[in-house]
Amino acid sequence: MTISGKLFIGAQRIAKTETFYAKSPATNETLQPAFSTADISDVELATTLANAAFNTYRNLDSETRAKFLERIADNIMALGDELLERAHAETGLPLVRLTGERGRTVNQLKLFADELRKQGWQGVRIDPALPDRKPLPRSDLRMRKIAIGPVVVFGASNFPLAFSVAGGDTASALAAGCPVIVKGHPSHPGTGELVAQAIAAAVQACNLPEGVFSLLNGNSHQLGSSLVTHPLVKAVGFTGSRNGGMALFNAANSRPNPIPVYAEMSSINPVVLMPHALAMRAEKIAGDFVNSLTMGVGQFCTNPGFLLAIESPALDQFMNAARKTIEVITPAVMLTEGIYQAYEKGITQLQSQPGVKVVARGLESSGVNCGRAALLSVSADQLLKNSALTHEVFGASSILVHCKDEAQLLNVLQKLEGQLTATLQLNAEDHAMAARLLPTLELKAGRIIVNGWPTGVEVSHAMVHGGPFPATSDGRSTSVGTLAIDRFLRPVCYQDIPDALLPTILKTNEVVSIPHRWDGEYRTGK
Ligand code: NAP
Repeated sequence: MTISGKLFIGAQRIAKTETFYAKSPATNETLQPAFSTADISDVELATTLANAAFNTYRNLDSETRAKFLERIADNIMALGDELLERAHAETGLPLVRLTGERGRTVNQLKLFADELRKQGWQGVRIDPALPDRKPLPRSDLRMRKIAIGPVVVFGASNFPLAFSVAGGDTASALAAGCPVIVKGHPSHPGTGELVAQAIAAAVQACNLPEGVFSLLNGNSHQLGSSLVTHPLVKAVGFTGSRNGGMALFNAANSRPNPIPVYAEMSSINPVVLMPHALAMRAEKIAGDFVNSLTMGVGQFCTNPGFLLAIESPALDQFMNAARKTIEVITPAVMLTEGIYQAYEKGITQLQSQPGVKVVARGLESSGVNCGRAALLSVSADQLLKNSALTHEVFGASSILVHCKDEAQLLNVLQKLEGQLTATLQLNAEDHAMAARLLPTLELKAGRIIVNGWPTGVEVSHAMVHGGPFPATSDGRSTSVGTLAIDRFLRPVCYQDIPDALLPTILKTNEVVSIPHRWDGEYRTGK
């Protein structure tokens, strides 16, 4: 398929005079073609079309929206190798990783289709009228969740498929019944356009209103803020930097009518190496840690960037094993020149902090934008005096915190900001200590892992990819898994509405077929 470089606004393909180019991170060379930069008139058109599509789209039955999501998935697969090759050129990510990410992307769309068919997403509750109740009768109360309105999605740089144009935020918003306007990530506009072609073709094939989907490209902050502050936009999904996420969060909150921003921003994902686990398998844990740390050049929001352990000979053994493994790791190309530079700057800043030692760096590199893995160490005493040591350095970097005892380790955990994940490496003999840490960990993180590693996020029903601030701007939600649909829904209660006027799903004869709560009791539906 030809990559046009045009904006995809509903069914229109618009070329602008102001353009930008993607760049190969492996060579810093410009990639063709030029991509049009959206301006305020394009924001106006995309939001107007999205708003016009909203009522029709949100009122479609679940089956029609499920088929639409499945059609998008099929169309993405039909793009074939061209999609993978363009993504590889724009991000430097290996083809094998991108193939896996494409699978995750289409499975995610199919999972939401399945979720729609199960109908439970509407959260229907019915409290039937109690006309004879004393001292006051109760009205008939019926509740369901409805779509919130047009959603703006910011594609992430580190997942050009699974967290981008047709990624988790788009899939969950479309499933909820919200039209989506994607602000494409400027580092992979060609990949973004190919996926936009897949979505646009699905919109047409399913006879949906054109405004259900638009893709706006640009490489200035102005475009993102114009979208977030536009009155017709009702919610935002974002994955990226803390600065970017907070700028958009603040913009959304200073609107005359503030809207929710679901921004996934920053996490260092603490891993506690418990004493008995270290004593029994220090070298094995070191090997598995380095594997998780360096996977994808560490460019995962769930990268294990913060290790804690109580000082012991086994901890020294762990450090030696980790050092040996890291020192022979060949650096690989990072996603963008900017991300590489931010990574090296972050490591330099960390190294210059009082008490910080370099345990190991990966091999020197002669390649362009290649990030060398880094393991640093510091005492808990120093760390507790310096919050800069707990800031995320995006890439394959981690800091090992030496604690004097369990009380100090717990103190460090209590001082941490919110996290996407927290991990315990433990043996059975560590259970008592783990039980004392867990109440703190569940207040800090969205997902707690035992004897695994935080990288690798299952897309499923029970997954939580979220966490207290600054992991996300709203720790009550997840951006991965079927619960993500809830971010783009709003509950509405219908009081004493005659059956003839009720939404179909809430009518007494219809509700029996779907999962719901009747007078507080859970019912599975027939
Ligand atoms: P980013 O700079 O936050 O950009 C993400 C998106 O937000 C882009 O579309 C960007 O477009 C837009 N944006 C950024 N700042 C904005 C602002 N002030 N106002 C309006 N729009 C804004 O993230 P990135 O480019 O992916 O990577 C930069 C850094 O983000 C990395 O070094 C890393 O620290 C972090 N990061 C974190 C994660 C994570 O999962 N936690 C993932 C990826 C990156 P424009 O630049 O065109 O405005």
